[in-house]
Amino acid sequence: MKKIPERTCIGCGQKKEKPNLIRIVHSPDDTFSIDPTGRKNGRGAYICNDSACLEKAIKRKALDRAFKVTVSEDTAQALREELIQLDR
Ligand SMILES: [Zn+2]
Repeated sequence: MKKIPERTCIGCGQKKEKPNLIRIVHSPDDTFSIDPTGRKNGRGAYICNDSACLEKAIKRKALDRAFKVTVSEDTAQALREELIQLDR
């Protein structure tokens, strides 16, 4: 059996298999987006497909740490909306 790589959710801190997490990407053009394909260019961080985890990540500044930049409230809001629109 092929080993499935694990990543840590930046919200709840749980390790999960990569396909069960959502990738958030900070693109070279300084935009943040949800990357369902996992193929976008840029620095990525992983999170559960769960708005509660995104809220935790925003509150704890985990996004800022993961991406080494300050994530604005507007960006956080855009990510919330993108996450909600994903198919579960
Ligand atoms: Zn989580």
